[in-house]
Amino acid sequence: AEEPETGEEYLFKIVVIGDSAVGKSNLLSRFARDEFDAHSKATIGVEFQTQVVDIDGKEVKAQVWDTAGQERFRAVTSAYYRGAVGALIVYDISRRTTFESIKRWLGELNTHCDTAMATMLVGNKSDLENIREVSVEEGKSLAEEEELFFIETSALDSTNVTTAFETVIRAIYDNVR
Ligand code: GDP
Ligand code: MG
Repeated sequence: AEEPETGEEYLFKIVVIGDSAVGKSNLLSRFARDEFDAHSKATIGVEFQTQVVDIDGKEVKAQVWDTAGQERFRAVTSAYYRGAVGALIVYDISRRTTFESIKRWLGELNTHCDTAMATMLVGNKSDLENIREVSVEEGKSLAEEEELFFIETSALDSTNVTTAFETVIRAIYDNVR
């Protein structure tokens, strides 16, 4: 567990991982700036965004890291994971292959991070119900098996995006308090 930096301040590093194009960057931009980009390219330049969240009247800073598209080349580095205390592992409910990759991403996380971290399995693009390939039940049962939080989100219509991040932040906070 990470110690608060000074006094009442908390800074938590959270990583967002998952296959290319599942919506990682849009989940982060929706959370941090309430923005969505229908034509988003691989992230360039931005390593992380810091968002301040109020938990029990305490100022908690969530430093959320986004890949710069390296996941395409399976080259997400140790530096990306270093010091992370929370993670969102994202798949796209309309593309089964991205769900099948979850175990590999969990393996990555376990290799690089403390297993005690707060981790949320995120089924994104819940707005694409008409072309869904992964059922809610499948997501839930994988999460139970792997002892992860579970949520379905839509970065497009904003469903559950704040809840996804805040649940992880709250769980980390409860761990270190
Ligand atoms: P990343 O590669 O995981 O960072 O994925 P992006 O955030 O760049 O998104 C990939 C594509 O999926 C883009 O065309 C987005 O506009 C689209 N996208 C992201 N989130 C959603 C969502 O919740 N619903 C829908 N329908 N499309 C989404
Ligand atoms: Mg991205």
